[in-house]
Amino acid sequence: MPGLFIDVVVEDSAARDPELAKKLEEVCPVSIFDATPTGVVIVEQNLDECTLCDLCLDAAPKGSVRVVKLYE
Ligand code: SF4
Repeated sequence: MPGLFIDVVVEDSAARDPELAKKLEEVCPVSIFDATPTGVVIVEQNLDECTLCDLCLDAAPKGSVRVVKLYE
């Protein structure tokens, strides 16, 4: 099930980069990114565990990963 509170969006070209996928899997403390040989997959059931730590944003090229709050 997708997150109720948080969505994480990875731009297409970044999502297909296996090296970036590994980095994202490594930095996220709550396992929202799964690195596969063809790129990154978002683990939807973990989305709401996001701590808004921004480590994924720092690990990725600027603008290629976005953490979207679905609440205000
Ligand atoms: S902000 Fe932190 S917890 Fe949320 S997806 Fe990025 S690395 Fe994971």
